[in-house]
Amino acid sequence: MAALSCHELVGVVTDYLEGALPEAGRDRFESHLAACPHCTRYLEQFRLTIAATGTLSEDVIEPAAKEDLLRVFRDWKASAAPETL
Ligand SMILES: [Zn+2]
Repeated sequence: MAALSCHELVGVVTDYLEGALPEAGRDRFESHLAACPHCTRYLEQFRLTIAATGTLSEDVIEPAAKEDLLRVFRDWKASAAPETL
């Protein structure tokens, strides 16, 4: 089974935190996390925000912060060999 891309991971992060991902999805999520420090940081930011606000919603992540991360993903993927994902 192919690993998630960074974009896919960002799209399902709330499902993951809610425990709403099926087991296969969790496996893919976690194997991507193990190889991707940027998504690890993104997830960490989510958890910190949830801890601070008690809310689980993508809306609580500032759009600018999310854009920053997605830009990091793009730059990083552009310089990384595709097979490392
Ligand atoms: Zn990633």
